Amino acid sequence: MKQYLKHHEWHIIEEGLDPHTNKISESVFSIGNGRMGQRANFEEEYTGETLRGSYVAGVYYPDKTRVGWWKNGYPEYFAKVLNAPNWIGIHISVDNQKLDLAKCKVEDFKRVLDMQVGLLSRSFAATLPDGKKLRVESKRFCSLARGEVGAIRYSITPLNFSAKATLSIFVDADVVNKDSNYDEKFWEEVYKEGSEGQAIVTAQTKKTFFHVTTGMRYTILSDGKKVNLERINILQREKFAGNILQVELLEGKEVVVYKYAAVLSSENHPKDQLVSQCTKVLNEAVSAGFDALFEEHAKVWTHKWEECDITIEGDVAAQQGIRFNIFQLTQTYTGEDERLNIGPKGFTGEKYGGSTYWDTEAYCIPFYLGTAEQNVARNLLVYRYKHLDKAIENGKKLGFKDGAAFYPFVTMNGEECHNEWEITFEEIHRTSAMAYAIRDYIDYTGDKAYLTEFGLEVLIGISRFWAQRVNWSSDKNKYVILGVTGPNEYENNVNNNWYTNYLGVWTLKFTIQAIEYVKQADAKRFGEITTKTRFNEKDETAKWKEIVSKMYFPADEKRKVLLQQDGFLDKELMAVSELKREDRPINQKWSWDRILRSCFIKQADVLQGIYLFEDDFDLETIRKNFDFYEPMTVHESSLSPCVHAILASKLGYKERAYEFYLRTARLDLDDYNNDTEDGCHITSMAGTWMSVIKGFGGMRVRDGKLCFNPFIPEKWKSYSFRLEFRNRVIKLKVTKDKCETHLEHGDPLEIMLKDEVVQLK
Ligand code: BGC
Repeated sequence: MKQYLKHHEWHIIEEGLDPHTNKISESVFSIGNGRMGQRANFEEEYTGETLRGSYVAGVYYPDKTRVGWWKNGYPEYFAKVLNAPNWIGIHISVDNQKLDLAKCKVEDFKRVLDMQVGLLSRSFAATLPDGKKLRVESKRFCSLARGEVGAIRYSITPLNFSAKATLSIFVDADVVNKDSNYDEKFWEEVYKEGSEGQAIVTAQTKKTFFHVTTGMRYTILSDGKKVNLERINILQREKFAGNILQVELLEGKEVVVYKYAAVLSSENHPKDQLVSQCTKVLNEAVSAGFDALFEEHAKVWTHKWEECDITIEGDVAAQQGIRFNIFQLTQTYTGEDERLNIGPKGFTGEKYGGSTYWDTEAYCIPFYLGTAEQNVARNLLVYRYKHLDKAIENGKKLGFKDGAAFYPFVTMNGEECHNEWEITFEEIHRTSAMAYAIRDYIDYTGDKAYLTEFGLEVLIGISRFWAQRVNWSSDKNKYVILGVTGPNEYENNVNNNWYTNYLGVWTLKFTIQAIEYVKQADAKRFGEITTKTRFNEKDETAKWKEIVSKMYFPADEKRKVLLQQDGFLDKELMAVSELKREDRPINQKWSWDRILRSCFIKQADVLQGIYLFEDDFDLETIRKNFDFYEPMTVHESSLSPCVHAILASKLGYKERAYEFYLRTARLDLDDYNNDTEDGCHITSMAGTWMSVIKGFGGMRVRDGKLCFNPFIPEKWKSYSFRLEFRNRVIKLKVTKDKCETHLEHGDPLEIMLKDEVVQLK
């Protein structure tokens, strides 16, 4: 854990440059707008530790799989969103000395992310090797109003000298991915042009042939007037174009470079129009100017915050945490483009390749249901509907048949990309996350028609998978599920993971209910689905019902707990608190073998199931399981503390709930798991939101009715949030002694507050 960032309600603040935490800061201070994203790399050259990252949504490369020992069934490639052409570069040198913060004396370094308006600022004074000292202030944003525009204001003030500075302002597509499997470069040049004040480069990805055109224009001002530039030279080399020029720096006088960038992809424009469109976007950006662009961008942020802010009074660290999570989620996925999804690191790093995981269904859907219009969550479901054929193909590759849908663990276009046997083949619970999300969506929105239109086909496919994946144990006289990995990835190849068995059976039951519904609601459509999926309703549902009635669930009668898997109690059971500090995180300190044999749990597993199906369990069962599993959980997956926060809230463990909240909310800000330098944990940020809404707010939807059972953490004076619910907007404010609810928009609504019925008008 590192606590070097300052607490502030709206800002993330770093004071002083520490080369060892720079990569963490690059992740935390990332900016984006759903279409493009940018790590907080420096504009100028930096030879210290850095992970350069510019990303363009939907543009990926299928990097050939690399494993030590090939296993049949592994996918051929891992699709990754690429480090894309660098649009931020402004390199400076004075008297042949480069401005490189790794080689200068740096004072007053400050990096600030203003989340209210989506602005990254940085300032410092740097002394070059010969003693020349200059002050730099930079500001930049990725426009939320114009998804293809980024803008930078970069100011330079010489503090103790006057001299000519050489500036190189450019676009560079000669970039690499750190995680490239074969040290390959993924971009090829298609086009470049450099002229005075402007550069454009079109690069294409190998194999997938996405084109990305990145253009830049700049102006340089001093005292508000354009500076006369001497000796502008056009710089061009492979995949690179820019200008190199000289600027007269006068002691004490500020010179400001405004750099405007346009980043366009062939996902959104015909390839042959990319350059002309890029020029147009650039022209429009330049003629608007930095201030106007910023103003319109900030306005969109203001509007977004009106929709999804959570306020917390009395606890700045908690307030900063939740806003940081909402901020990052909002700049990762805006919900406008149904082809896109939410990568676990968003646009803040390479890890997880920007691909789609079960995280979207299990964690992110509730956030979008609560903060955005209904069609945003619906689009996310339709994304998986569109991958159904591929899920069936994935199943086929592993030996399943007759339309069994095995959704991938990691995907870009529906094909499996993950290549670790224990996850690819064994972490099978993920296929039912798609089914669960359908139920979650329908419960929240009441849009049952989704089942008729898309949902049922998906459910039939997933149920077929389970029907083939179980096997009959004549020893137990029950159905069992062997050789799996549950959500807790610190156990592999186990038998009867309770979560997996429960989710499989639940899916079968839910599909049977969905069939009944669709049959009644639209017999014709049901007929179409049956024909399309070659569904033999009688025989298939008979089999499903049999599995439902005869599934085996491991449990320990003595302790009254559900067992994570067969044999869990054979382990040496001990609490995480007994571990030495230097052993944590265990995934960075212990051998894999030692982890597997230990009782330590990476992330909520049985408790994940209890959280998802809470109404199936009485409070005592929830308590017993929480008390048993919580002490053994190391939370080394970001997806874990939020689930524990929600259950702790339900159980009235207020202190614990608050601790878990801080852990999920500040996971990246305080680098809890020592891995933020790889990127921020974007999908778990939706879990942070849930810990407030479902945890402290106790929000549930029961039989179509919105229910709250709020409490307030000791330290807080108040908290408030806003929820979209069935064409209404509801606001809840909780203080120490009361809870106020308002209907901000929409028709009157009856809700439950604690155990009372409240009419909202
Ligand atoms: C977790 C998975 C998750 C993935 C991406 C892993 O550490 O164990 O459950 O899907 O991260 O967030």
